[in-house]
Amino acid sequence: MEQTLVLIKPCGLERQLVGEVITRFERRGLMLRGMKMLQMTDELINIHYAHLREKSFFEGLKESMQYAPVIAMCWEGKEAVKVVRDMTGYTNGRKAVPGTIRGDYSMSSQQNIVHSSDSIDTARVEIDRFFRPEEIFSYKIHWRQFYATDEI
Ligand code: UDP
Ligand code: MG
Repeated sequence: MEQTLVLIKPCGLERQLVGEVITRFERRGLMLRGMKMLQMTDELINIHYAHLREKSFFEGLKESMQYAPVIAMCWEGKEAVKVVRDMTGYTNGRKAVPGTIRGDYSMSSQQNIVHSSDSIDTARVEIDRFFRPEEIFSYKIHWRQFYATDEI
């Protein structure tokens, strides 16, 4: 079963959308395998957003990820990376489709409520970045409530 990383960003905490975001993933049928609150450090942001270090908005992005803690979560399900990414919506909240988290709660290209992993490979690296192995819980799930028994 596929796993992916979600961060509820400081703006999500400030807007009091933590429960709302979690509820969306739960109701979709994704399984919560790990969750913690933490303060992002400069070092962690430099690694997590390494692909954006040369961008003009990088300093602003750094500040926006540090003014309050984040909630890190590991969600699991079939094709969880794509499902969660689709539920997240386009980066810029003004362009994000209504029904997505960003499309429903964001008007910004920076303060866009959540981060989610963009590929299966990235998800693996990002889960390991935020969680130790013992912080991911493989409790029993009756998957047949969510998928056909012969579903690929
Ligand atoms: N970001 C920004 N300005 C931009 C583009 C991105 O501040 O013009 C921030 C925004 O918070 C975004 C994060 O940088 O979520 C990571 O950017 P990426 O392109 O990876 O978008 P995402 O994967 O989050 O949709
Ligand atoms: Mg990204």
